[in-house]
Amino acid sequence: MIGQPGAGKGTQARLLSDKCNYPQISTGDLLRNIVSSDSPMAHELRETMNSGRLVDDGILASLLSERTSQADCQGGYILDGYPRNLHQAQTLEDLAASQAKSVVLISFSLDEDVLLKRITGRRTCTRCGEIYNIFSRPPAVEGYCDIDGAPLARRGDDSETVVRERLAAYRNSTAPLIAYYRDTSRLIEVDAGQPVDQVQKRIIEILGSLPGQSA
Ligand SMILES: [Zn+2]
Repeated sequence: MIGQPGAGKGTQARLLSDKCNYPQISTGDLLRNIVSSDSPMAHELRETMNSGRLVDDGILASLLSERTSQADCQGGYILDGYPRNLHQAQTLEDLAASQAKSVVLISFSLDEDVLLKRITGRRTCTRCGEIYNIFSRPPAVEGYCDIDGAPLARRGDDSETVVRERLAAYRNSTAPLIAYYRDTSRLIEVDAGQPVDQVQKRIIEILGSLPGQSA
């Protein structure tokens, strides 16, 4: 599963995981697990991640290979946020072939202006963590939490310029990937603007109609 920042991919991955019993695997989580350990690889990864560089595709591939060879992945698994480029897609093809599995790409997309409002409108209570949106779910009193009256804050990386840059980067890096799966008839495009349960229903329907499916 891939999706624009803010399109709700993580939520859908979790729901699908609960419903279909596929483990949800995110490379971010795998990396964080490794980094918190005390191996030579952990030190190397910490350096890479702290410097803001991207982690090598080969390292991600070996982490994924190890994780997906575990017993809970036998019936299929959900990769949350992977692959992100064509090279990773090729790696995944090889991995899936070695596991006698097939790959389907579920792509979440939403109009960028809608996403922009979703992300830049987000406000979080500084005390209880309740999430509001000044466009779609405003608090009763502007700037303050309905529950405990504490001030609301917005995340520093939710500014319009930053969000626009993230969306453009996503668009550019995933366009070839989406074309690749579309050309091989393995693309499921989901309109993430629909209500969560409708999106969920549609994904399950499509997955159920695939021959020998796995995600
Ligand atoms: Zn609160």
